[in-house]
Amino acid sequence: MKISFKEIEILVSQLYGFDEPKVFLEQYETDGKTVSFFLQKAYQDLIQKYVVDLGCGTGILTFAAVLAGSKFVLGVDVDISALKIALKNKKILADLGFSLPVDFLCADVKNLYLKKKFDVCIMNPPFGIQRKGADRIFLKKAFEISDVVWCFLSQNSEPFVRKFSEENGFCVTSSFKTKIQLRRKFFFHKKDVEFLPVDIYRIERN
Ligand code: SAH
Repeated sequence: MKISFKEIEILVSQLYGFDEPKVFLEQYETDGKTVSFFLQKAYQDLIQKYVVDLGCGTGILTFAAVLAGSKFVLGVDVDISALKIALKNKKILADLGFSLPVDFLCADVKNLYLKKKFDVCIMNPPFGIQRKGADRIFLKKAFEISDVVWCFLSQNSEPFVRKFSEENGFCVTSSFKTKIQLRRKFFFHKKDVEFLPVDIYRIERN
C-alpha cells in the first residue's frame, strides 16, 4: 500500500506519546511534522531495508519507517513502559488496517547484542544533556550494527559527530537542521509548546 509522507505525518500524530516521560532518559517523542521532514530526507535509505530504531520510545520513527516502505523495523528501548505504549500504537495501526512488520526489544543500548546486522539504523536518542555521553553510546552501537545511520542530535553537534564518526570508520554525508515540537511535559518547559532545534545526520561506513 502506497502512503504519502503527509498521511504518515497524520497517522503518527494520532499515536500515544509517553505517559510519564522520564527526564533522565530524555524522553520526548518526535512530532509528526519532523517525522515527515525526516522521511523526505531518509526515504531512499529506508525503502525495502531492514532497519533498527535505537531508543525507539513509543515507536514513532519505527512506525514511520515501516509505513514509508522498510521491510522490517526493530525498535529497541530500555524502558518497558515506553514499549508497552509502542505495542498499543501497533494495535491502533493494525485496527486502522496497517498490519506492520515491526518488533520491539527491551534492552539497554549499551549492552545490546544483535545476532543480525541491519541495513540502516535510525535514532532520535538522548542527546546526552541529562547523562553525559549518552549520545556517544548510541552512535557507537549504531556503527557496530549497521552501515548507514540516520541520527537526530542537538544543534551544533556537527564537529563532534564528524570527528567521532571518522574515528570509527564512518563519514557524515549530509546534515539537516530542523526543530522538534515538544509538548509541555517537563517542569522546566515554560511554554505550552516548545521547539527544540536539532540536527539530523546521515552517516555512512567508509
Ligand atoms: N525515538 C523516539 C523517542 C526519543 S526519546 C522518538 O523519536 O519518538 C529517547 C529514547 O531513548 C527514550 O525512549 C528512552 O527511553 C530511550 N533511551 C534512553 N537511554 C537508553 C538506553 N541506554 N538504551 C535504550 N534506550 C534508551
